[in-house]
Amino acid sequence: MSDIQIKNVVKEYSPTFTALRGVSIDVADGEFVSLLGPSGCGKTTLLRSIAGLEDIHGGSIVVKGKVLSEKGYTMPPERRNVGLIFQSYALWPHMTVFKNIAYGLKLHGWKKADIGPRVAEVLKVVGLEGLEHRYPSQLSGGQMQRVAVARSLAAAPSVLLFDEPLSNLDAKLRESMRVELRRIQKEVGTTAVYVTHDQAEAMVISDRIVLMNQGEIVQVGTAKELYETPETMFAAKFLGFANMLAARVISTDAGGDLARFELEGIQAPIITGRARKDVLVNDRVHLSLRPEAIRVGPRRDTSHGLPGREVSLPASVEDIIYAGNICDVFLDASGLRLRAQVTPGDLEGLSVGDDVTAVFDPRSVWPVPADDATASMDTVGVAEEDGVVAAVVG
Ligand code: ADP
Ligand code: MG
Repeated sequence: MSDIQIKNVVKEYSPTFTALRGVSIDVADGEFVSLLGPSGCGKTTLLRSIAGLEDIHGGSIVVKGKVLSEKGYTMPPERRNVGLIFQSYALWPHMTVFKNIAYGLKLHGWKKADIGPRVAEVLKVVGLEGLEHRYPSQLSGGQMQRVAVARSLAAAPSVLLFDEPLSNLDAKLRESMRVELRRIQKEVGTTAVYVTHDQAEAMVISDRIVLMNQGEIVQVGTAKELYETPETMFAAKFLGFANMLAARVISTDAGGDLARFELEGIQAPIITGRARKDVLVNDRVHLSLRPEAIRVGPRRDTSHGLPGREVSLPASVEDIIYAGNICDVFLDASGLRLRAQVTPGDLEGLSVGDDVTAVFDPRSVWPVPADDATASMDTVGVAEEDGVVAAVVG
């Protein structure tokens, strides 16, 4: 049995506004799951419902086999044994680190003799040994967040719930704390649900990502599954950057598990990409092609991709942007605008205006049904960048 079973959960804030529209997820014992999605999609509402801070109006939330919430019943938060960690650390400023952690244990009825060793134990887990006598004002943001985590761990909760806990930290610290939170969670083995709107954070920290939009779950999978095989346009655009090429399916049996597509609006438009069961001949699709999948080489004979062969398109270099470890090369392939990402070494001898070849493996071309394109693009919230992304046909 899964550790957390969320079944068809409905949450209404008013008769006219439903924040969760039938959300279902199972989280396994010891698993680290992220709820990812744009601001306002219902992540915090779902997390607060698991914590018992919100009533639900339909469905059920079951943790370790026990019903915690259903329509008409909400077990109070203090009886749920969940640890909740937010972006504001909520430490008591007049108490030392030791007391901040010990206080909760006292409330839970721990004996005095057991409290000291337990505090020492959780401080060790979060890497703060020796700081028990400091006050919160004498700690950095990262250290305060570690104290908050230690405090949540102390009472051995059955589930850890995080709501954007790293949003207050600067970018460098946020990156190292992601890895650190994951390490801590794996060390203690407690099942965790983690809310974030940051796709990079979700990809690094979690075993599985639950992608949400407008009160619904859009797709559930590992970071690799969501990044490489997004089911919808929304998923393709929310996780990183993708060139999206408007196309039509012309055959689904191009050998192996490949299909052939006709790109819209360019000359010599047939290319090979991956087939997908729910994508049929004549369907209109968008082909997702990640910029790092495109190599930029010297002009040579081009081919449109056959099993075991790469797709190569003639192109010219429109712009080059040097950004350190990874650089952008914007290409015009007969009217198709492509963004490629290469390493600085690949820029050697490359100039704006050069005739080149854009080369990619057909397996990195992934079709996404066009149906949901217009509806979900508006809600992704990265529209600025999308302007550059979309395959613009000349
Ligand atoms: P997220 O955490 O994904 O940004 P929330 O779960 O906080 O989103 O909010 C989901 C939606 O519910 C938003 O439209 C938000 O404005 C609305 N909402 C959240 N809390 C309340 C509340 N207490 N009363 C009414 N509407 C709310
Ligand atoms: Mg939120």
